[in-house]
Amino acid sequence: MKVVKFGGSSLASGKQIEKVFNIVNADPERKIIVVSAPGKRFSEDDKVTDLLIACAEKRIQGEAADDLAEAVLDRYDQIADELELGREIKDIIREDLIARLSSDTHDPEVFMDLIKASGEDNNAKLVAAYFQQQGIKAKYVSPKEAGLLVSPEPGNAQVLPEAYDRLLALREQDGIIIFPGFFGYCRDGRVFTFSRSGSDVTGSILAGAAKADLYENFTDVDAVYSVNPFIVESPREIKELTYREMRELSYAGFTVLHDEALVPAFRAGIPVQIKNTNNPSAPGTRIVNERDKTNGPVIGIASDQGFCSIYVGKYLMNREVGFGRRLLTILEEYGLSYEHTPSGIDDISIILRENQFTDGMEEEILSRIQHELQADEVKIQHSLSLIMVVGEGMRQNIGTMARASKALAKAKVNMEMINQGSSEVSMMFGVQAVDEVRAVQALYNEFFAAVAAV
Ligand code: ASP
Repeated sequence: MKVVKFGGSSLASGKQIEKVFNIVNADPERKIIVVSAPGKRFSEDDKVTDLLIACAEKRIQGEAADDLAEAVLDRYDQIADELELGREIKDIIREDLIARLSSDTHDPEVFMDLIKASGEDNNAKLVAAYFQQQGIKAKYVSPKEAGLLVSPEPGNAQVLPEAYDRLLALREQDGIIIFPGFFGYCRDGRVFTFSRSGSDVTGSILAGAAKADLYENFTDVDAVYSVNPFIVESPREIKELTYREMRELSYAGFTVLHDEALVPAFRAGIPVQIKNTNNPSAPGTRIVNERDKTNGPVIGIASDQGFCSIYVGKYLMNREVGFGRRLLTILEEYGLSYEHTPSGIDDISIILRENQFTDGMEEEILSRIQHELQADEVKIQHSLSLIMVVGEGMRQNIGTMARASKALAKAKVNMEMINQGSSEVSMMFGVQAVDEVRAVQALYNEFFAAVAAV
């Protein structure tokens, strides 16, 4: 049995939903279908979720949001017309959105999640109506009825452990299940969404809970590429990679799959297959527990911008018990999460995402570190990019770091930072943001172009 998730671009129009239907119909194992809200039909188009967010924001401010609500409803109406679905489903969707928009806004975050979730909820109802019209035994199943219980954290809900037992029953249901992605219900019945792109998370939870043999994730690319195709032209496709490799790559900018989405599938040991709705015969990329590691040390190279590094130097730091804890406590007090902490005997750098800082926070933190820890030197470096060179094969191969640093040196990229400490499957390089593209191209040429030429 397969759980199959379709992303927003796969459901953006009637034509796309016909493709989805053909894909599901082609394989009787495809039983649980998770859908996103309608996405973009072309690059300047709006995603329904974005329209819904704008709509909720207006309502929270006490303004009428009829124009935005109509824009959302118009998207569903157009799809329903394209699929010749008739009035009934359009009315169901209209009534649902209007009811949600007229509900209480006193808790803005709760209201926001209720509105956001309607994008997938109503799309699931529409897709189910189309499948039924095509003569297929299919039904919309609500996450509430199925028991997808989540924590009450707006925009960042987490699945509760007891949800898994309840969701197992989906396996036994007759016919095809059309399940909305992106949200669940908390114990008191309120709706909470996962973080953005969270329909991937729903698919993975259902695959794990219903003990699927495979979790298929349909999107709009043929495969996961070994590097960002905007940085390297026609890069190599990855046929197979491990969960750990995918996690490291998606951490630093690979956006094909939501990074939390892998957790439930990984725990249950269910392979994930990424495929293209617009080219379903392409094999796609498979994510597995263990893979054959004979094809070179590196599977992919990812990079992401927007980092900064707080450097702290203090003579005899290594002997000072509690120094690291006190430093991190300061960051914790500002609600900051950190990414890496490369360190020496008397110095430590903390790498953080820059967008976490609010006005004045940076100066305050630097001065607190200086005074409370009596540091000799505290400074911050902005506009850093992190590059992750990822591959399980690294452990078996000698000289990967030497090859990477030589390639960067040849491209005249100054490495601000290297971290290969704890991760067995990745090396991290910190470079100036202006050097990022050149660095990634140099690394790709070293590990992929060279191999391809052999
Ligand atoms: N529609 C939601 C979003 O745009 C969730 C998803 O598509 O996975 O974030």
